[in-house]
Amino acid sequence: MSKFMPEPFKIKSVEPMYFISDERREAAVQEAGFNTFLLKSKDCYIDLLTDSGTSAMSDKQWAGLMVGDEAYAGSENFYHLEEVVKEYFGFKYLIPTHQGRGAENILSTLTIKPGDYVPGNMYFTTTRFHQERNGATFVDVICDEAHQPDLADVPFKGNVDIAKLQKLIDEVGGDKIPYICLAVTVNLAGGQPVSMANIKAVSELCHKHGIKVMYDATRCVENAFFIKDREAGFEDKSIKAILLEMFSYGDGCTMSGKKDCLTNNGGFLCMNDEELFLEAKGMVVQFEGMPSYGGLAGRDMEAMAIGITESVEYDYIAHRVNQIRYLGERLEAAGVPMVKPYGGHAIFLDARAFLPHLDQQQLPAQALAAAIYRTSGVRTMERGIVSAGRDVKTGKNHVPKLETVRLTIPRRVYTYAHMDYVADAIIELYKNRESIRGLEFVFEPKVLRFFTGRFSEI
Ligand SMILES: *Cc1c(COP(=O)(O)O)cnc(C)c1O
Repeated sequence: MSKFMPEPFKIKSVEPMYFISDERREAAVQEAGFNTFLLKSKDCYIDLLTDSGTSAMSDKQWAGLMVGDEAYAGSENFYHLEEVVKEYFGFKYLIPTHQGRGAENILSTLTIKPGDYVPGNMYFTTTRFHQERNGATFVDVICDEAHQPDLADVPFKGNVDIAKLQKLIDEVGGDKIPYICLAVTVNLAGGQPVSMANIKAVSELCHKHGIKVMYDATRCVENAFFIKDREAGFEDKSIKAILLEMFSYGDGCTMSGKKDCLTNNGGFLCMNDEELFLEAKGMVVQFEGMPSYGGLAGRDMEAMAIGITESVEYDYIAHRVNQIRYLGERLEAAGVPMVKPYGGHAIFLDARAFLPHLDQQQLPAQALAAAIYRTSGVRTMERGIVSAGRDVKTGKNHVPKLETVRLTIPRRVYTYAHMDYVADAIIELYKNRESIRGLEFVFEPKVLRFFTGRFSEI
């Protein structure tokens, strides 16, 4: 038996990578103001900042780029994408967008009235931004277990707490809730999935009150894999069948093509409601482009269509989730604290348990991400108090219970040997964790501050 599942692909083209010297890393972390988003790519050895747009495309996808039909209107590739999305997602209507947030912008603008509420199973940065920008209050209805990083025996930590959702409906009424944003999987909870039973229960309750169920489908294939792996009755179903069933309970989705669609750019919005579709077509031309390309080149739509068909192959998704599990098991064996169970796209280190000598106001996750880069050249990302931002009404910091550093694994890019390098570096740092100092803002942008904020050591 091998200790891990071999890669279900062989390598046809390579990109060289280089170790970064101690001196260069030290200079780079200072130049970047201790924000890993501000590091230059060439200063990073292994780049686990994000799984967004960082996938390796297959030979078929690259070939697909060559059949890009770059007509201004009615591109062949649009019709191909439309056919694939219908086949695998099951929604009636498709609007392509430049990426996921383009779809979020259209959905939020068209459906939210000032004073509305949008419940969700934990927030996502750009998603909540668009909801709030249109005058809604975001309400977190995820189950309490999602906020407890070391609770390992909960297979579906992304589930909605139905009682919390019911309470919100009782308090504000269904007509103040245009839709629920149901994330499958939940990125900020650590890539945690939602069970089919929970999706069904959410759908029943929402539809009883006239509330639409709109998925954030960004990592829906990973969610489908976890359902197959963990939920009774789904062992023998295909990923494709599970995906179709998941979406059959809802009314549409926003999708970041940069994640599970295995492409470097793209996104889309889906819905079953014809009226909403017509309105969305009217809006996409204002902000993205013709409804048959939505800010994408024909070739990008082709790569996305092919990527979707590859993403639901069992070996692809099983290997992906297993590679992340391997990294998690190596870190866990050394006692490194993290969110459990392991996520579908990343390992999330528990920064408060890693750095118990730091208060959350000293930005432990930001400090840990900077320290990982400084000592190893591995780039990771803060997902804690900095990402959570400030309350739009009070101006006070949101204080999330989860203060994490995300080791996000790009799709089909790194090997198990790379995972070993990352594990060894973090285990070594864990032994020297008392040396890591807290950080404070020296520049704090007003919106989405984690992208461009700058810090210095306290
Ligand atoms: C990335 C992401 C988005 C936004 O998509 P973009 O393509 O980056 O605009 C929305 N929701 C989740 C959960 C994401 O991970």
